Amino acid sequence: MSIAHLDGLNEVQLRAAQHPPHVPLQILAGPGSGKTKVLTSRIVHLINVHAISASNICAVTFTNKAALEMRTRLGRMLDKEHVRQIKMGTFHALCAQFLRRYATLVGISGNFTVCDADESKKIVGKMLKEPDLKEFLKRCSITLSEGTISSRISQAKAKGLSPHDLLDSFHASSHTSSKGKVKEKSFFALTTEHLEHELKSCNIKETIDFVVANLYANYELILRDHNALDFDDLLVYGVRLFSENPQVGRWCTHVLVDEFQDTNNVQYELMRSLAAASRSITVVGDPDQSIYGWRSAEVENLAKMRRDFAATQQIFLEDNYRSTGSILAVSVAIVAQDKSRIQKTLHATHPQGPQPTLHCFPSDRVESSAIAGEIKRVVAHMGGTLGYDDCAILLRYNSLSRVFESAFRKEGVPTRILGGQRFFERAEVKDVLAYLQIVDNPAYAPAFARVINVPQRGIGQKTIAELLTVAGKKGLSPLEVVERIHGGRIPDIKPPIKRKVAEFVHVLKDMRKLALKGLSPANLIRRFLDLVQYQEYLEKTQEDADSRWRNVQELITFASEMESELGAQSFDVDVEDTKAAQEDDYWQDREEDEYDDEELDDLGFAEVKPRDDKQARKGTESRDAAANTPLRAFLQASMLSTDTGQSSEDDKDKQKVTITTCHAAKGLEWPVVFIPVVEEGVFPSARAEDPEEERRLLYVACTRAQALLYLTHASSRMMAGETVSKRLSEFVSVLPGVPPPVGIPDSAALFSSSPPELSKAEITTLAKVLHRATPDAAEVQKRVAELNRVGKSSFWTADPESTYNTGFSSAASWNKGT
Ligand code: ATP
Ligand code: MG
Repeated sequence: MSIAHLDGLNEVQLRAAQHPPHVPLQILAGPGSGKTKVLTSRIVHLINVHAISASNICAVTFTNKAALEMRTRLGRMLDKEHVRQIKMGTFHALCAQFLRRYATLVGISGNFTVCDADESKKIVGKMLKEPDLKEFLKRCSITLSEGTISSRISQAKAKGLSPHDLLDSFHASSHTSSKGKVKEKSFFALTTEHLEHELKSCNIKETIDFVVANLYANYELILRDHNALDFDDLLVYGVRLFSENPQVGRWCTHVLVDEFQDTNNVQYELMRSLAAASRSITVVGDPDQSIYGWRSAEVENLAKMRRDFAATQQIFLEDNYRSTGSILAVSVAIVAQDKSRIQKTLHATHPQGPQPTLHCFPSDRVESSAIAGEIKRVVAHMGGTLGYDDCAILLRYNSLSRVFESAFRKEGVPTRILGGQRFFERAEVKDVLAYLQIVDNPAYAPAFARVINVPQRGIGQKTIAELLTVAGKKGLSPLEVVERIHGGRIPDIKPPIKRKVAEFVHVLKDMRKLALKGLSPANLIRRFLDLVQYQEYLEKTQEDADSRWRNVQELITFASEMESELGAQSFDVDVEDTKAAQEDDYWQDREEDEYDDEELDDLGFAEVKPRDDKQARKGTESRDAAANTPLRAFLQASMLSTDTGQSSEDDKDKQKVTITTCHAAKGLEWPVVFIPVVEEGVFPSARAEDPEEERRLLYVACTRAQALLYLTHASSRMMAGETVSKRLSEFVSVLPGVPPPVGIPDSAALFSSSPPELSKAEITTLAKVLHRATPDAAEVQKRVAELNRVGKSSFWTADPESTYNTGFSSAASWNKGT
């Protein structure tokens, strides 16, 4: 019997790992205290010491990535076959697996399709188009988007509420008996008049609740008809399966749950029914790290578990093995601001280490390139002890990644995006760019195929394929074909599609004229968003509409930056090009609704002044009306931004800096962590409902750091194309011992305003914290010399000419942020 899996655990961790299998256990502890480590050791202990079959163990993690991580850790302690047999994954994955096998027990068929969030929204969208319902909502002046309905349905499911539960609570709170009648009939069988009559005593909120409940009921019928389950259903049916059929769960007798503080009601029920008979249940969690309240997670589940499983024991781990003392002190000082929080003990086992840095930069661009430079410096000074893959940038929103991706590319620092896509690969960014590409080059078929149906115009893949075939046969561009449909010259298309196509043509035509007039790309994007009502489209169709909208705004920022960077030279417009526009093949025989300068002013767009030089005259020689326009320069820059400079295969092993969001970083750790944009409106997010949850999010982010932690912000930042002044986040500026940083004597108690010195002593400490060999002095010298040679050596120190020196400098820069 091997007990190697217990090696190195401290006394309390040992107790937790060896806790008797059938006594319910909660391991509650702060970040980095080894909760996940103990959970993994406990799994091995159950198998190796208690001789429990691996297939009877069910380990639930919060993300697929976490499951993979746990599998890797287990792979070091168990043989492959055992690891394979353990049921490990997210709650959703676990349910899907069991439902496939035991579908009939809950009255569904095993070949169900999992319907993703997009599909669910489409179903809701269709229901909202029911004429009677539309008419009814119109008369009541109620606007309901697909997004709102979908998330209300999802919230109800997460709470385990059926459509009947919603209707019942509606009737319970109603004062009129007439509502009872409504209940008896199907909502969709009622005419508008009926509804109005029945609901006349309801206020708007009650009416909306009623509509939501009924749409929910109908949505369920549709999913049933399609033999489909949405994500929430996987959990709902999973709970039903396990609670009504205890024999199914008998294989999952030992349940272990990581990140328990972020489970919702249904997930809790699932776990409860699985472990009901065996009572072999272990959960680990930290209320201070609950950051998914916005997704209906309930930290109260900890108390609920103690009620449901009598004699649940608790073990508290109090030693942090992840971070240096000073990083832990900063993190705890941040979360301790939450007065309602229960204080806990968390000791650092590591030395104090260099102080975390908190610094204000004059602008977002200086901030991002300073961070890229600092990463190079740290990697060089640690002489092979640290690589790029030891560094992470943790962002509050994923839209903030654009500036960092760009700065890192410029500095030649390789990056990877964890749990998401690179900025220029995101669907909404590609949609907007595709419109601009057609405006620039109407013959560009890929862009055409991408966006003819964005926003939805009811044009199916088949029609798009036909249009492209016709274009090929006739030697026309897809857009010309579409134009001809619009002009009635291609007869076989149904009138509603014609109308939709006309809309598409109108948008492009409008944009093209403005582009040829020299409207800047930033304004062109704004115009586009307005014309197609892109934000409404996102809200109706995307669950994460906010995040996508922020990405679109960030694209405007990028366009504005390009304008100022390339300046007048590239962003001026050729007079002759504008003339050429009038000869432009694609638009010449259409109605004459050119914009004149006054109209441009009316639209609130500043026009770029025409240029008068040799290049302008060259424009006349070109048939390409859009040559050298600001738009083309912008598109080219965007396309080049997709080139990461890192090529495919050989790149797999290459060390890369991780860029990710604070949410996605949960449970993970890196030696060097940067948290930029620690500003008002970001921490807490301007749209956050619960500021305390935002504070905990910053705490989660800070506690990912092992050796070096940097918090930064900028006193001015470009947002949606406008430069705005920004202030340091109050989560940091009101830290005890860290009053508003300017000139306050003890501001250095927790943070330093300059980067770590990286003296020999500091480097030795860091190597110790990371359990790595102290770097060889000669190697350090070589790397620093190399850095000097390529011109970035002066990063924090001497060279007054260095742009980076505008960054971390003196206490004076604190003024800007506070
Ligand atoms: P989080 O709350 O952030 O998920 P956690 O409590 O799950 O953190 P782990 O990720 O399990 O913490 O552990 C943090 C780090 O500390 C890991 O690198 C782990 O290997 C290390 N660690 C945990 N316990 C010990 C120990 N007894 N001795 C040495 N290192 C340890
Ligand atoms: Mg963990």
